[in-house]
Amino acid sequence: MARDLTFTCPLPNGVHARPASALEEVARNFTAEVVLLNERTGQTADAKSILSIVAADIRFHDACRLRVSGGDEDRAMAVLESFVRETFAHCDDEPAGTAAPNGDLRLPPMLSRAGAVLRRGNPVVSGIGLGRLVRAHGFRIPSHLPTDGACDPGAEMAKIDHALSELLTWYDRRMGNLGRCLETELLGAHRSLARDAEFRQVMARAIGENRRTAAGAIADAEAHFSALFGASKNLLLRERTLDIEDICRHLLQLVYGRDGELEKVTLIEDSLVFGESLTPGQFLALDRNFLKGLVLADAGITSHTVILARSFGVPTLVGVLGVPGGLVEGAEAVVDADLGALVTELNNSARRYYALEQSRLAGRRDRLLRHSQRPGGTCDGHRLEVAANISTLEEAVAAFAAGAEGIGLFRSEMLFLDRHTPPSEEDQFRVFKGVLAAADGRPVLFRTVDIGGDKPLDYLQLPHEPNPFLGYRALRIYPEFEVFFRTHIRALVRASGWGKMKLMLPMVSTVEEMRWARQIVAGEQAACAAAGQPFDSSLAIGAMIEVPSAGFMIAELAREADFFSIGSNDLLQYFMAADRANSKVAALYDPLQPAFLRFLRTIVEAARRQDRWIGLCGEMGGQTRLLPLLVGLDLDEISATTPAIPALKAGLAGLNRALCHELLLRAEACATAGEVAALLKDFATGSRAPLFSPDLILSEVEAETKEEAIKQAVDLLYVHDRLDQPRAVEEAVWEREAAYSTGFGHGFAIPHCKSAAVLSNSLVFLRLRQPVHWGSLDDQPVGVVILLAIRDADGADAHMKVFAKLARQVMHEEVRETIAKEKDSAALCAFLHHKLGL
Ligand code: PEP
Ligand code: MG
Repeated sequence: MARDLTFTCPLPNGVHARPASALEEVARNFTAEVVLLNERTGQTADAKSILSIVAADIRFHDACRLRVSGGDEDRAMAVLESFVRETFAHCDDEPAGTAAPNGDLRLPPMLSRAGAVLRRGNPVVSGIGLGRLVRAHGFRIPSHLPTDGACDPGAEMAKIDHALSELLTWYDRRMGNLGRCLETELLGAHRSLARDAEFRQVMARAIGENRRTAAGAIADAEAHFSALFGASKNLLLRERTLDIEDICRHLLQLVYGRDGELEKVTLIEDSLVFGESLTPGQFLALDRNFLKGLVLADAGITSHTVILARSFGVPTLVGVLGVPGGLVEGAEAVVDADLGALVTELNNSARRYYALEQSRLAGRRDRLLRHSQRPGGTCDGHRLEVAANISTLEEAVAAFAAGAEGIGLFRSEMLFLDRHTPPSEEDQFRVFKGVLAAADGRPVLFRTVDIGGDKPLDYLQLPHEPNPFLGYRALRIYPEFEVFFRTHIRALVRASGWGKMKLMLPMVSTVEEMRWARQIVAGEQAACAAAGQPFDSSLAIGAMIEVPSAGFMIAELAREADFFSIGSNDLLQYFMAADRANSKVAALYDPLQPAFLRFLRTIVEAARRQDRWIGLCGEMGGQTRLLPLLVGLDLDEISATTPAIPALKAGLAGLNRALCHELLLRAEACATAGEVAALLKDFATGSRAPLFSPDLILSEVEAETKEEAIKQAVDLLYVHDRLDQPRAVEEAVWEREAAYSTGFGHGFAIPHCKSAAVLSNSLVFLRLRQPVHWGSLDDQPVGVVILLAIRDADGADAHMKVFAKLARQVMHEEVRETIAKEKDSAALCAFLHHKLGL
């Protein structure tokens, strides 16, 4: 006799794939039939099929019934009862390692009034990109595979069954290797979907009833379940469409081998590419003329795809809710990596806001580029070369245009990724030679191929490892693949005759490794000499310092290495024992940790004692905020992604070496990274520019509203480097504006603020083309906006002193006339100096 168990759904997110797979795991152990009924909708489901369970659309607090009948029903009932009572409510608990977007999101007034839809995410490459949404891995069967008219349905089904069983074995093997972690849980959910009877059933029907081929049947299953999940109101269920897509992609490859690989994404207009993740090779395959933004479900700030995105200046968000399942392909959107949000359903106000944002960024870029071709150095004449990190020939040209004085890191492994065979010696030689030609006599540091870790190479068949970053990667694999390595070195040695090449080895941990590699280089140089091929016989060979052991062996390594380059990305992860790609440990993975700064200084001083050149090519070299510390370290060179170079050079020019060194010593003596950050902030706001200058006076400004006018005044300060966080300053202005209107009367407004984000006290003058409503005392619209921004550190007095003087002067008609009409900005500045006496 059938037995019933009633319960109320305890899961706030409803029964999506993860809880469904937990229930299925239990139900499938019994011969008894187990049926799940959703009493709210009347839908029933086979509890031994995940897909059937999720299709029952069970939501939080829905009344449910499990009906168990036949076979071992008593035993099944007992186990299911205890499962529902004890386990079911917890099977949706957040798995460890899930990234969550960062703190509160406060919208700028102009944007909050625009009413667009925002999804928060963690910005990993700053900037703003507009375009249409394109899915990274849209599921499209390759056009060369037939999908209809199967001649032998039995054979097609046999292919599917064989591939399904291979797929399950693959999951088991992979999960066995991994141990318990987030990836195992996700693979477990995929495996449960793949062995679901309903999944196979849909494909069997497609073949049996519609004479679809295996490819056609897989496409049908993908479409069927994606539509089923995608239509759900439950966000987590919608996200399962990606799991289905993954399984189907994998299945297709198992049936058809390389022929089953899905077609590449083609961009034909400004696009924002979104997806679960993207490999470096997939990123490089995208047409960057059209790639305006990236939205990934997860990736760390130093993962190689993110490094590439940064290098090409592609604004990138990770961990955006509802990505990829909840997005509509083809829709217009904005990746706002400055705000930390993906913005969709844009209206005209939102478009206007983003047009202003883009001109803010372009304004700053243009200003910085004006000085970027000067050699890098501080205001007191201390030279610090600023070089570029690149991985393709194409980037070299852009790097030099941005002011790079050399290439401080050429990541040669990018040539080797996402291929089925390694590039030939000739192919490699051509690229290396091309980069040297683009460098036109400037130095290029080629790093030998660094693979393993998050850069696997299928054709080398490196073993899957539980700790790839601590395992078999970079220099460590060269002896096993000596022929492969020699080909690579031969191409480099041959190219060395065509420019100013330096060669460096990744992940050096011991002196022996360095000796071994040197001897291989010497061997290939001898071979080139014997073959009469030109090469640079004085080629400098250096070691990357990215493993702590190397940092403590500088003196001994200096006997084998001609120079050093600090790979701070890896050095920091090994030093702090914090995975560089794991957002959960980002607070530890912080270059401001005092212990790390002490270690860096030890390394640089040791290199100096050995009279060795030393640079730094990790991502910390590209952060302008850290520049004072880098100058204090006394490096010979910093190397960063191309978009960072103009700001680095401009920042350097404003620094003094002795003060920076003093700052570094104080930073090292701190107890926490937070204290170092505070020191840096103080140091940055210590610099003084005059209160106003001709470049802070603008005429004929187009603004439709007060919000637009305030935004443009604040943006002008950002363009001229007088503040570092425009949104924080705008917020501070609006805080005062909310208390009382700053519309002064006579068509003048004096919005003002005091904020920690202001670096130099400033006055901005905007003369608007059309006056705007301001809520002024005399109800007059405002045609002249004078923004006063004062540093927090200066206290209330400084603010009031300037504000009161300004207000007194603006009372005079003659002063107002001059401010509104004087065309010569320099003359206006002189007039204001005289009147304000500041
Ligand atoms: C580094 O580790 O700092 C580095 C530059 O190498 P990669 O980021 O390629 O590992
Ligand atoms: Mg490294």
